[in-house]
Amino acid sequence: MKPVVALVGRPNVGKSTLFNRLTKSRDAIVADYAGLTRDRHYGQGRLGRREFIVVDTGGFEPTAETGIYHEMAKQTRQAVAEADVVLFVVDARAGISAQDHEIASYLRRLGKPCLLVANKAEGMHDGLQLADFYELGLGEVHAVSAAHGQGVRSVIEAALDQIPGADVEPDDEEAGEVEANAPIRLAVAGRPNVGKSTLINAWLGEERLVAFDLPGTTRDAISVPLEREGRRFELIDTAGLRRKGRVFEAIEKFSVVKTLQAIESANVVLLLLDATQGITDQDAHIAGFILESGRSVVIAVNKWDAVDEYQRELVKRAVELRLAFLKFAPIHFISARTRQGLAPVWRSIIEAYESAHRKMPTPQLTRVLLESVQLQPPQRSGMYRPKPRYAHQGGMNPPVIVIHGNSLEHVTPAYKRYLEGRFRKAFALVGTPLRIEFKTAD
Ligand code: GDP
Ligand code: GDP
Repeated sequence: MKPVVALVGRPNVGKSTLFNRLTKSRDAIVADYAGLTRDRHYGQGRLGRREFIVVDTGGFEPTAETGIYHEMAKQTRQAVAEADVVLFVVDARAGISAQDHEIASYLRRLGKPCLLVANKAEGMHDGLQLADFYELGLGEVHAVSAAHGQGVRSVIEAALDQIPGADVEPDDEEAGEVEANAPIRLAVAGRPNVGKSTLINAWLGEERLVAFDLPGTTRDAISVPLEREGRRFELIDTAGLRRKGRVFEAIEKFSVVKTLQAIESANVVLLLLDATQGITDQDAHIAGFILESGRSVVIAVNKWDAVDEYQRELVKRAVELRLAFLKFAPIHFISARTRQGLAPVWRSIIEAYESAHRKMPTPQLTRVLLESVQLQPPQRSGMYRPKPRYAHQGGMNPPVIVIHGNSLEHVTPAYKRYLEGRFRKAFALVGTPLRIEFKTAD
């Protein structure tokens, strides 16, 4: 599971600036996807090979006037409770405030790893001006400038070092080495009440072959082996599902952090939507996380049994509009309750997994590229005419295609989409994001 870093502090100290800096590398990856709605409170961060989830508690602003417990809204407390390490951000220029003292005493009582981060410290001399902050009783003061990117790297490094077991794990999959028989890790993601537990119980109810060995009910994460279509799967905890007797049910508190962690540790994410409710902001945010994670995705619109033709059309259009950035994901209309339409979902999950790991040899890639260019050459831009020459695979899971040539910086987004469509068709890539990068020789 990816470690979770929570940013805590009073308003205006620079939490969201720091959040943006920590999640910037992911921003670049998804910049091309139109219509993506971001939840600016949760994001994926990366430092070298270490990845983590960042939560900015600043968005859940204090509601009451006094007292830290009132002040830190429920959401904030949940985020802090779920975090592996807390970055307590203070304003190096403004000095300590009463509110800082309150937050500090809350964090000291909490007893989880916590780093004191003095932001806006550009041009300051640590020793002198920051000495006051030791008063907060949280140990070392880390001077950073979120706005200028100073000290951010070392503070996040120090934060991750506080987390036991959060060392860099050799990630074979990212290197493209997938064990042939490894089970496909599947996460079912969706907001509360879309039918996640019903679906999982429907799957398990069908289960005759595999006697699943469930970990103890007290453990947080559940992971259930399944077999479908001749493939092995490992269902990973998503919604914070708990086993109760022979069935699973959702624990009452929906956890964005747990959902994010499940998405991050999955190979394929099944995004579950509720046909009776249409697409809500929360659905769109979860969809956005999935896109940012780079995982493969299959969409299932549940409760199809409960809606009439009119509502069905509305839902289909809503998916097209609001989840346009997941256009590559196969979509199924199912009923977990009546168990209708479930088999094709499994086939899509397998396809999505295989697509993410597809090997695309340079000669074939180049052939598809040149045929596409011949069929429809890129537009001239001023005095430049982009000239793609060859393509190679720059990575997998998700697949990356690198196109080489001249003046490729002038390729239009529309042309890039055209090429993406051609590559997807030629290599049967479904359910996986596909990144296309251009490398210009001149
Ligand atoms: P939040 O309310 O804690 O999320 O704070 P913001 O990230 O919105 O930042 C509050 C203000 O502080 C903004 O005007 C930022 O531009 C400014 N700010 C953030 N980081 C720095 C920094 O490193 N140095 C300086 N001088 N200003 C900063
Ligand atoms: P979760 O919070 O995502 O795990 O959702 P649940 O599985 O607890 O389902 C929420 C509600 O939707 C329950 O009342 C279910 O009976 C109902 N439900 C789930 N799947 C379906 C379905 O396919 N059709 C209909 N009509 N109701 C469903």
